[in-house]
Amino acid sequence: NFTDIQKAVTLKDVKFGYNAEKEILHGISLNVDKGQMVALVGPTGSGKTTVMNLLNRFYDVTEGQVLFDGVDVRDISLTNLREQVGIVLQESVLFSGTIRQNIKFGKPDATDLDMIAAAKQANIHEFIMSLENGYDTHVSDENSVFSTGQKQLMSIARTILTNPRLLILDEATSNVDTVTEAKIQKAMDNVIQGRTSFVIAHRLKTILNADKIVVLKDGNILEEGTHTQL
Ligand code: ATP
Repeated sequence: NFTDIQKAVTLKDVKFGYNAEKEILHGISLNVDKGQMVALVGPTGSGKTTVMNLLNRFYDVTEGQVLFDGVDVRDISLTNLREQVGIVLQESVLFSGTIRQNIKFGKPDATDLDMIAAAKQANIHEFIMSLENGYDTHVSDENSVFSTGQKQLMSIARTILTNPRLLILDEATSNVDTVTEAKIQKAMDNVIQGRTSFVIAHRLKTILNADKIVVLKDGNILEEGTHTQL
């Protein structure tokens, strides 16, 4: 189907439930062009995270299809898919190890130069350089307890380094001071730039910047369009 092939991401009448008793998504359809940023909004429990779970195949649809470049995600190997989809979660996980190992996690053979470029784009390089041991700082060191925002920025750096075709991002809402929030916003702009992205958006600015706003309610798309259209 030609129209599918043109789209970076297509959801075709997607139905899904975590178990047979309760359907959570009731037939969602969506077309996203290459490079577009989609803001997913909606009340708690509306299905935002569930849509993300289907995009990165933590789960498979019950009915319908999820297509990347016209290819059903079930026909893409998980290894391949993991390389193509980058995820930045609200509470970013750092592993026991150095900052260098953490940023290079998805691409261990990356050079330090590439790592630093990614950290700069993620707005976290200066902070890392301000630490006594820089990129060799152990994340589990008692004197290197990072804030939620700093962890999210490192996670963004990690994602930038893997250069994913599709980006899934859950904006941090809590425990972020205004300076860090501005840094996250800038880092997000950098990582989203030119990349097909789905963002669970909590900030108004992100919603205003979206190419497409998708409003979910009770597992259905209530509205879809640009900020000016809605
Ligand atoms: P929030 O804004 O609170 O994160 P959300 O829009 O992301 O909410 P989802 O997390 O997608 O909503 O949840 C949609 C529905 O699916 C809810 O009714 C929730 O209880 C249910 N749900 C989510 N995860 C699971 C799971 N692992 N097993 C069973 N039900 C689940």
